[in-house]
Order: sequence, then structure tokens, then C-alpha cells
Amino acid sequence: MPTYEYRCEGCGKEFSAILSIDEHDREAQRCPECKSNKVVQLLSVFTAQTSRKS
Ligand SMILES: [Zn+2]
Repeated sequence: MPTYEYRCEGCGKEFSAILSIDEHDREAQRCPECKSNKVVQLLSVFTAQTSRKS
């Protein structure tokens, strides 16, 4: 299953969650530190392939 990366806008904590696509679509994530739902999703590590041009 894919890993989703999030950052909390309340306390700045970054965390990851392993979710199925279905769970990801259905459930809003909450910060494990402060329980805020003001979290932003970061780029998945799996899609962050390096494609640098020199
Ligand atoms: Zn937080």
C-alpha cells in the first residue's frame, strides 16, 4: 500500500500514514501530536523520483 506523507499546519509535525487508496479518499487525516485536521499532504516518497536535468 502507498505511504502518504503529511505535515500538520498546527504544530508543524510531519508524519506518514500507510493507507489504501480507498482509505485515503475516504478519511481525512489528523495530526498524531495535536489532533488537528489541518494537515497538508506532501509528495509521496514513491512519486518523488529524481528527474534532474544537468
Ligand atoms: Zn499537529
